Amino acid sequence: MKTDEKGRIIKALAGFYYIDDGKTIHQCRARGKFRKEDIKPVVGDFVEFQSGSHDDGYLLKILERKNVLKRPPVANVDQALLVFSRKEPDFSTTLLDKFLLLIEYYDIEPIIVISKMDLESDDHIHQYIDEYRNAGYKVIETSSKQGKGIEEIKDIFKDKVTVITGQSGVGKSSLLNALDISLNLETNQISKALGRGKHTTRHVELLKMYDGYVGDTPGFSSLELEMEPTEAARAYHDFDELAYDCKFRGCLHDSEPHCAVKEAVEQGKISKERYEHYLIMLKELKEKKEKKYG
Ligand code: GDP
Ligand code: ZN
Repeated sequence: MKTDEKGRIIKALAGFYYIDDGKTIHQCRARGKFRKEDIKPVVGDFVEFQSGSHDDGYLLKILERKNVLKRPPVANVDQALLVFSRKEPDFSTTLLDKFLLLIEYYDIEPIIVISKMDLESDDHIHQYIDEYRNAGYKVIETSSKQGKGIEEIKDIFKDKVTVITGQSGVGKSSLLNALDISLNLETNQISKALGRGKHTTRHVELLKMYDGYVGDTPGFSSLELEMEPTEAARAYHDFDELAYDCKFRGCLHDSEPHCAVKEAVEQGKISKERYEHYLIMLKELKEKKEKKYG
């Protein structure tokens, strides 16, 4: 047996971990010690393992994680497609800003997908798209109906672990079906995975898709913000960059003087609306903290 093998867990099922070392998938059990320790192996983990001849390999060690999502448990997520429809349901910057705060807090790169772009209306969608692009976000406009933006989406999967999330009805399944057309069977699994009821199974899997991996929809549906106010203040990448110029260390960009974020808002470099959404979330987090610690 070799001992210093490394790979990534791509599936966890019935006590077995399936580890991809780039060439083969190894079926392994965790050594007893993982059951006692706080840290349990999850899909997406980079691990050291010892392969066996068939299904008798052993997972030995979990390597350091970049992040870990809870529901479903997936580690080392690189990026998230945040799917928001232009209409039906209406595009909401309040909700988008909340998703962005959460995603960036987890150190996951958000990719904003505006779906159903074929649904014309006199909304301000193009203005919003410009604003988010100016803030440094990648925004992809799609229409599964017209096949718009599909090629662009395919390109971003390469070499990354991506999760796809968004409210129900925004067109996630349609988008995946549109991606499917020219593709192998493997993608069908994703449509199925998304289609099935959430949390009905303990089976978690990363699916190969356009040279990358796609994970199940994470349970951001409740969108519970669980972080320190100071962490929220550094979550948005553009706020974080500016925070070095705030007078106070740990500035919450609220009522502190000489705040670089507030100055950027005044100069129109950060959208007022986005900043206001931030303040509402900050207030919520502060209140939560007070309740907890009195
Ligand atoms: P999911 O719940 O996020 O998976 O959303 P679905 O893919 O099931 O889509 C919800 C509804 O939106 C369905 O009635 C779709 O036909 C419709 N829909 C999805 N994508 C588009 C699109 O690009 N354009 C239009 N006009 N409707 C769409
Ligand atoms: Zn500040």
